[in-house]
Amino acid sequence: MKKHNSDSNARKILKTAKLYRTECRIAILKVLLKSNKPLNQEQIAQHLGKKHFDKVTIYRTLESLCEVGLVHKAFIQKRAWHFESAQDCTENQCHPHFTCTSCGSTHCLTEMKLPMAKSPHKGFIIRRQQIRLEGLCPACA
Ligand SMILES: [Zn+2]
Ligand SMILES: [Zn+2]
Repeated sequence: MKKHNSDSNARKILKTAKLYRTECRIAILKVLLKSNKPLNQEQIAQHLGKKHFDKVTIYRTLESLCEVGLVHKAFIQKRAWHFESAQDCTENQCHPHFTCTSCGSTHCLTEMKLPMAKSPHKGFIIRRQQIRLEGLCPACA
């Protein structure tokens, strides 16, 4: 039942974004909607489980989802981009990401709102703000 709901939800989101509903787009969007933290391409592939899409297809699908703003690149870690559904973000601001310096886990702080930075530097126009915070997670504190 729940599986069906997330499927129709992903389809609806793609339809609104006017993106053709390919099997891979639906599957990846479902994985990202269900995840409570950003995932890199390898982790996404693992979550897809028995649905096998090759690396190039997954890569292109993620790019197309990013292009229309349904998904965004949250941060880069160990030279891999981590993707997440953009549903908790506004157009010019993403929620902060918190990385624990002890265990290395990264969390989405979706409830935290920070004022948009203003640049005192002439000629620099800030379009988007993504903040990364470091410290100790509840498990390590
Ligand atoms: Zn920790
Ligand atoms: Zn996040």
